[in-house]
This record gives sequence, C-alpha cells and structure tokens, in this order.
Amino acid sequence: MDRRNFLKLSFGLGVLSILDIPGSLSVLHAADTGWSSNTQALPYAKDALEPYMSARTFEFHYGKHYQTYIDNTRKLISGTEFATLPLKDIILKSYGKTAHTAIFNNAAQSFNHEFFWSSMRPGGGGKPQGRIGHAIEKSFGSYAQFEKEFIEAAMTQFGSGWAWLVQDKSNLKVVKTANADTPLTQGWKPLFTLDVWEHAYYIDHQNRRGDYIRSFLDRLVNWDFAESNLV
Ligand code: MN
Repeated sequence: MDRRNFLKLSFGLGVLSILDIPGSLSVLHAADTGWSSNTQALPYAKDALEPYMSARTFEFHYGKHYQTYIDNTRKLISGTEFATLPLKDIILKSYGKTAHTAIFNNAAQSFNHEFFWSSMRPGGGGKPQGRIGHAIEKSFGSYAQFEKEFIEAAMTQFGSGWAWLVQDKSNLKVVKTANADTPLTQGWKPLFTLDVWEHAYYIDHQNRRGDYIRSFLDRLVNWDFAESNLV
C-alpha cells in the first residue's frame, strides 16, 4: 500500500486537507486576532516522547491535524465578533449555537489538542505523589480505581473524542467527550486529557487503542501539569 492510500484509510476524508497543508507551521500575529497569545508551541521536541509516541505521530497530529484546526479557526473568526476574544471565550460563546458550529468545532479542537500536548512529558506517567496523588485517592478511593475508570472511558468513547480527568468543585472525576466537545462548556476544570481519535495512535499502535492508553498512563502523563490545574 502506498503512503497516500495508507493515509486515506487511516484518516478518511481529512486526507485532502492534510496533504494540502504546507509543512511549516504558520504563526499567528497579534495584528490578526485577539487570540494569538493562546497559540501553543509543542512543549517538547517531536521525538521527546519516543518510543511511546513517535516523532512521526507528531508530524501528522501536531503539524497537520492541529495546525488545520488553528488555521480554520483563524479564518472563521476573521472579521466576526469572535476575532478579538481569547480562545476559551470563543469556545464558550459559540457553544450550542447552530450558526457558529464550525467556529466551535475548530476552536474547541484547537484548545483540546493544546491541552493534550501539555498533558504529556518525557519520563511522565505512573502513580502520582503529592497534592494530585492525594486528590485522586480522595476522589476515587485509590489510584487503581482511577486507572480503571480512565481506561474504561478511553476505551469506550466511540469514534473521535477525548478522555479527561476533570475537577468538578472539590471532586475529581473521569469524563469522556465526543468530537470537539470539551469539559469547559460543562463548567468542569480539565486536569489532563487523552485524544482517543485513531489519528492519535494509529502510526504507533495501529488499532490497539488499549496499548496506547496503557503507555499514556504508565509513561506519558504529565502529573505536574495536572496538579498545576487543580484549583
Ligand atoms: Mn487529534
């Protein structure tokens, strides 16, 4: 199978826009929109999470998929009431409004992906200590119970979507969201997330979503980031 056909099988119709995007990332300038300060560089080198998440995965997931959401959001909000808003405000203001579905989808996918990059770090994963470790034991009873619920959510999200650890008032809980949906619109504070769409793991794990979830929990979760998000 040649590369183009492999991509078509892996990513479906998105392949057209994926292949049409130039390799270099565009940069948002303050003059373009009010949201430029919210764009995010990858917080580590593309090969920093190998062998658990490959540079090749980042070339597509960060360099193509994520960049498309950023570019689309910028185009869609240009000249509208959303143009000068921070990314989170664009998401909250467009949520649930039929006329702004495309803006919501692209803005929320931009946010979710940025949150996902920060949810991982080299040498991450495993049972957390400190304030976040204590908060997990308090809310779930044990780290093992948290893992069980997180794996269940990440395995059972049908089609594209996300598994999250969130804070709901003083309680932590695991939730899953479909497509671009994000805990922000429910008033929950996200602590970390895992992208469970096939493009996130197909290059490294093919169809084995369970292996992908396991390596995320054991080797990649950035617990310092999760703790920094605790209120
Ligand atoms: Mn993704």
